[in-house]
Amino acid sequence: MTDSSAADDNGYLARRRARRDLTGKHVVITGASSGIGRSAALAVAEKGAVVFLMARRGEELAVVVDEIKAAGGEAHGYQCDVTDADSVDAAITLILAEHGHVDMLVNNAGRSIRRAVHRSTDRMHDFERTMAVNYFGAVRMTLALLPQMRERKFGHIVNISSAGVQVATPRFAAYLASKAALDKFAEVTAAEMFSDNVTFTTIHMPLVRTPMITPSGDQGTSTQSPEWAAATIVRALSERPRRIDVPLGTLAEYGSLVAPAIKERVLHRYYRAIGDSPAAKGETVPEPETVDVEVVVPQRHRRTVPPAIRVTGTALRRAARLVPGTHW
Ligand code: NDP
Repeated sequence: MTDSSAADDNGYLARRRARRDLTGKHVVITGASSGIGRSAALAVAEKGAVVFLMARRGEELAVVVDEIKAAGGEAHGYQCDVTDADSVDAAITLILAEHGHVDMLVNNAGRSIRRAVHRSTDRMHDFERTMAVNYFGAVRMTLALLPQMRERKFGHIVNISSAGVQVATPRFAAYLASKAALDKFAEVTAAEMFSDNVTFTTIHMPLVRTPMITPSGDQGTSTQSPEWAAATIVRALSERPRRIDVPLGTLAEYGSLVAPAIKERVLHRYYRAIGDSPAAKGETVPEPETVDVEVVVPQRHRRTVPPAIRVTGTALRRAARLVPGTHW
């Protein structure tokens, strides 16, 4: 390599690093006591941001805050339930009083329920609970921070959605409908806020190894690490694209556009091949009303899935690898 190309490379890397720099930015992350939110808080602080962590479990939050401080970062924990208006008001009022303003918000707090709709006919609360956290919680946080963002003519909001919204994964009607509602809220609000310089990124996150998926494991599908998810969130905060998608989600969306009937049949076959968990059927005692599981693609059980379905699934996965994730 010549000196000038090495200098170009160094310049490129320096520019790239600078783009990812969040020095001095005030960033609120909800659901920061665990999983993706915890890793995101560590990564965002590492990029120089002042991080305000929110979650219901104060002790877990304090551990993450201490971890960030030990690494030389600045972080502050605020115990808060995003489903409770008073709790959100109190936390935001305190943050603004203590730190003046918030530049960016990561709506990450979430709850997942996996259950077929026909088993949910007497379980309206499944739908209400997912909406309470994933949709109304995120909207409440956004509304609370929007006035000062508009006033300062700067704000960026990252919503952690799911690639399952694009796939329409069976057994996740309650969960995915709440994420889809948030996607649309962000799209409409972004159009309104254009001249206020308040922007949104929707991340259609794939399956990530966090406590949320612990009950069901990786289900034979590929998963990402919380650190990967955190790096994706850093990219969303620093580059502010409208969406970050992964190939599987993009392919599924194409499928909805060009072959919706085929897509529905494929998903129905998966649905028929794989049953509800015992907990979702109400067969187990510990907290039968919720199963904190998140999947993006339907489960695969190698022994029980008929060969025709397995072949379709393999073909879909191969095709998905040819489709780039989109990043607009
Ligand atoms: P975790 O279960 O590890 O973390 C969920 C976080 O949300 C916890 O910190 C929890 O904190 C917080 N939370 C839940 N309810 C509330 C509430 N009412 N108020 C405030 N905080 C709350 O899950 P993940 O890290 O996996 O999930 C993070 C986000 O990513 C979620 O929105 C999820 O839907 C989304 N996602 C996850 C995927 C995955 O495969 N893991 C895939 C796609 C999207 P506490 O209990 O202390 O309140």
